[in-house]
Amino acid sequence: MLTIGLTGGIGAGKSTVSRRLVELGAVLVDADAIAREVVAAGTEGLAEIAEAFGPEVIGPDGEMDRARVASIVFSDDKKLAVLNGITHPRIARRTQELEAGAPPDAVVVYDAALMVEQGNQSRFALVVVVDTAEEIRVRRLVESRGLPEADARARIRKQATDAQRRAAADALLRNDGSPAKLVAQVDRLWAERLVPFEENVRLRRAIRGGTPLLADPDPAWAARGERLAARAARAAGAVGRGVAHIGSTAVPGLPAKDITDLQLTVDSLAELDGVADRLAAAGFVEIPEITQDNPKASDPDPAHWRKRYLGGADPAQRVHLHVRETGSPAQRYALLVRDWLRADPAAREEYLRLKLAAAAEFARDGDAARYVTRKEPWFDTAAPRAEEWAARTGWVLPGPDRSGEEPVLG
Ligand code: ADP
Repeated sequence: MLTIGLTGGIGAGKSTVSRRLVELGAVLVDADAIAREVVAAGTEGLAEIAEAFGPEVIGPDGEMDRARVASIVFSDDKKLAVLNGITHPRIARRTQELEAGAPPDAVVVYDAALMVEQGNQSRFALVVVVDTAEEIRVRRLVESRGLPEADARARIRKQATDAQRRAAADALLRNDGSPAKLVAQVDRLWAERLVPFEENVRLRRAIRGGTPLLADPDPAWAARGERLAARAARAAGAVGRGVAHIGSTAVPGLPAKDITDLQLTVDSLAELDGVADRLAAAGFVEIPEITQDNPKASDPDPAHWRKRYLGGADPAQRVHLHVRETGSPAQRYALLVRDWLRADPAAREEYLRLKLAAAAEFARDGDAARYVTRKEPWFDTAAPRAEEWAARTGWVLPGPDRSGEEPVLG
């Protein structure tokens, strides 16, 4: 099973996408419908709301008087918290029920207009955002839904911005063209990404190998690192001591293989077993053969350089998740080298020259394993220099980019 999130600003075409995904075989979980269902006429949820705010919140037809409830909680945060305390757990329970009831090989699509506003994006293995220029959205809302233009604009202003939604997107579907063009993008996403991703998660298959082609540095790598770190941190939950974006894509301006390296810190590597299923559901699958970093001269005991290693299951987004123990030299080294390379242009240049030479050699002999081993001696000699830089600049181990958060649903 794979659970993905789908969102988009009002009028972007989200409903059109979710309809097509259902036609292709996805199981839809509709956040709006669930939010209505848990406070529908005759429900326990609605009874609790009436108890909290008075019987007049129930209309003559037995349904909740939404306008009245909205006016009660509108400018009163305490009352809003009471309302959320009634609805959110029920929404979460119902959502989990629907997800649990889906077949084991299902692609579950959680369709939520306010996913980004509510900070739920890191709950999903993949987030799909339907992205449409605001003027086009306004025109479509006016023409096909009969919404007055001022209302359409007011609703758009109340939502997250396009840039905020794009930062949350693992896959972006542009809907500035014809409906047929949108559907064609959905069909490709389904066949080339969602179906193989689901299978990889179910069969616990990480994407491996790939050629060491260096890509030009992409300013979007930082946001992608942040997104994937948030996802891993959420999946690791209380076992995680934070996730950081490490490796070459975490160093702005450095050409790199287009792979996000992340470091998940845990107090003990054995604790990972307890969250392996959650990490797999989030798209991170363990590669059990890899258990070790190369010890550096400062601490040659291999036992101090143990790690666990997970690869991404998303065929369109490569990621390596290195799991290392709090306070281990391996955990420190990854962060130290990242920060040293970020700070020292000469070190960066030197490392880049080595990468380019290794990549050129790979182009000649096609030996990907050697590409990795060829860089090792440089890292050995870099370690004391990075330490020297740390002592000189007063570097201390930085906190994680992301730490675990509790899921919020609503
Ligand atoms: P959302 O669910 O994101 O609010 P919808 O999928 O309901 O958006 O789309 C908004 C309106 O625009 C609908 O009436 C839909 O039929 C129409 N629409 C969606 N995509 C296109 C398109 N590519 N061209 C023209 N109209 C579209």
